[in-house]
Amino acid sequence: MTNTVFRAQDRVKVLVPRPFDNAFDYLVPEGMQVVSGAYVQVPFGRNQLVGVVWGAGEDTLPAHKCKALLQHCEHVPPMPKALRGFIDWVADYTMAPRGMVLKMALPLPVALLQPPMQKLYQLASAEASMPSATRERVAEVLRERTQMSPALLADAAETSQSTLRQMVKDGQLIETHQVMAPPVQHFNITKRPDLSDDQEQAAALLAQQLEAGFAATLIDGVTGSGKTEVYFDTIEKALAAGGQVLVMLPEIALTVQWRARFAKRFGGEAMVWHSSVGEAERKHAWRAVASGSAKLVVGARSALFLPYNNLSLIVVDEEHEASYKQEDGVIYHARDMAVVRAAQEKIPIQLVSATPTLETIHNVQQGKYTRVHLPSRFAEASFPTVELIDMREAGLNATQWISPELGQALAKTFNAGHQAMLFLNRRGYAPLVLCRTCGHRFQCPRCSTWMVLHKGKSRLQCHHCDYQQMAPTACPECDSTDSLVPCGPGVERLAEEAADLFPQANIALLSSDQSQDTAEMIQQIIDKEYDLVIGTQLIAKGHHFPHLATVGVVDADLGLSGGDLRASERTYQLLHQIAGRAGREKVAGYVYLQTYQPEHPVMCAMQAGARDDFMALEAEQRELGGWPPYGRLAALLLDGPREAEVMRTAQMLVQHAPQDAAVSILGPAPAPLSKLRNQYRFRILVRTDRHIHLQKMLKQWLAVVKLPSAVRLKVDIDPYHFL
Ligand code: ADP
Ligand code: ZN
Ligand code: ZN
Repeated sequence: MTNTVFRAQDRVKVLVPRPFDNAFDYLVPEGMQVVSGAYVQVPFGRNQLVGVVWGAGEDTLPAHKCKALLQHCEHVPPMPKALRGFIDWVADYTMAPRGMVLKMALPLPVALLQPPMQKLYQLASAEASMPSATRERVAEVLRERTQMSPALLADAAETSQSTLRQMVKDGQLIETHQVMAPPVQHFNITKRPDLSDDQEQAAALLAQQLEAGFAATLIDGVTGSGKTEVYFDTIEKALAAGGQVLVMLPEIALTVQWRARFAKRFGGEAMVWHSSVGEAERKHAWRAVASGSAKLVVGARSALFLPYNNLSLIVVDEEHEASYKQEDGVIYHARDMAVVRAAQEKIPIQLVSATPTLETIHNVQQGKYTRVHLPSRFAEASFPTVELIDMREAGLNATQWISPELGQALAKTFNAGHQAMLFLNRRGYAPLVLCRTCGHRFQCPRCSTWMVLHKGKSRLQCHHCDYQQMAPTACPECDSTDSLVPCGPGVERLAEEAADLFPQANIALLSSDQSQDTAEMIQQIIDKEYDLVIGTQLIAKGHHFPHLATVGVVDADLGLSGGDLRASERTYQLLHQIAGRAGREKVAGYVYLQTYQPEHPVMCAMQAGARDDFMALEAEQRELGGWPPYGRLAALLLDGPREAEVMRTAQMLVQHAPQDAAVSILGPAPAPLSKLRNQYRFRILVRTDRHIHLQKMLKQWLAVVKLPSAVRLKVDIDPYHFL
């Protein structure tokens, strides 16, 4: 099907990256011709914006009111139809304005308005003789290469760019400007691993899917079972067939290791796309994807919105990771949207995890996804032994967190010359500072949370809004100078305790507060320069520490509290992931979970290695309550500067809620984080049967209520974060 061409005097709809759901009508001016998907610059209010032609316009607006397109960005291919359809779909599903979804798919306007230019030098005359040896060298290089950029030419002729500029002035060189070609990826595969039988079987099935349209597959297997090797195999086949491949990773930090591994296997670099990639690099990457010269993109959520011209495979690694849910701006779940994108592109998608989510398992059981299973770790490594330590019987005082049993296990590990790790998901020194005399607690002035003590930096810090102050020396209530006590442990404090217990041990402390280079420290851990690694979430993910034998989880219960419907599931996933760090090579792994609830299903499942039983139990409970994936869920979050007003608004919303037996409204209730950055927050949960069209219902409901201007409403479809 060819794209409709719009000519002068035709009207087109243009979607602009602003918070509007509708595209606006514009007139195609004389001498211009555009197709659907074309990037165009348009007058918008007092501004000029770059938007996208979304289709034919309507004749409802009088001609003199319809403004004309200003510029057609001809040097970039139009936005592919599949991406436009995807933007429409995401906007409808998330209930975000279409323009805001488009915004995620646009590079900076400069990248669209002007093609990137490159300065090149060439000889004014090929035969002319040069007055000096240096200039003769320049001429020689150019006789062979015809034209070169100043930097490369200066390098090749062993001279300076100022000499080259002088040669331009003297009429010996000519300066030209040309459109820069987008960078091209080259791969050079020299050796591929021999797959095990299980891996081979999985790879064969995945290969079949490459030519067969949409198919979603879960690659399920413990860490180290070779999931990555298996999807690398499909990637190789997809690339060989000339397609583009998108690999999504949950965290930017992971891409470094992943890229190194990819480069080794494929003999070429992956193209990286995430929010911290610099502007210049983004511009090139975006063009390379649009032109098709970029073949493999590895990226975070936003890589889903790139204008691939020939996408043939999507891989979502660590599909269970909560960070796939974007919480700011357009609220969407990148794993779910990736499946939608694959369906629209009619290509296969692979979801990869050692601990798949209940949603994904449910989809497998419903027959919507296929599952391939890699049951065992590659080569001799096996999953570590997990032991529970009942903290009710540990007999610790209020400033100790390492139980005698864990202490002994660590000592044994060090004596054997192995490495150990302690995990605690709490940054800083102590989560709370308290005055023993008057009971004063240090709270963030802007949020309903305690300030966390960072002893290294001598600061109190709010981990929600980043408000900071100097660590106090006296109580602001009662002026006592020696009555302030830190309560509870953070990793800094845990490191202190460990250093007391094991003065000989070389300890690495890893958290996002660290000033040292994390990548460097991780290399040192791999090289066994440390005996003990202490860290937060940062160390749980993806790293391969070959010498690590023992892992201690200081507070295994930490994620279980709070009203999050996925608290158990997530705790299980995290504990499993941490446990998977131990015993990855020749040494056997041991994992110790310190818990006050050893009878909790999560702890029992961890000890028994009974993931499927645990997930079945979770599923049963969710089904009983009508929670996702058995029912639909949306959260309405209201916030504003005046608590009473926000509460009244939330109550008024609930009063207008639809009366339907298939719809339950929970709340309003203050959000667990009831104040954040001086905004008071109330939450309403909307749970419906699966047959209800949730978005349609919400749209009708929300259309009849008028919010006060100071109160904001955020709609979160499929909420994952319940703070
Ligand atoms: P996962 O992605 O499931 O954690 P990986 O693919 O990272 O597993 O494999 C774990 C380790 O085993 C890696 O070091 C990997 O290189 C190695 N490995 C896996 N499969 C093979 C194979 N067929 N041949 C050689 N090494 C393999
Ligand atoms: Zn006090
Ligand atoms: Zn705060």
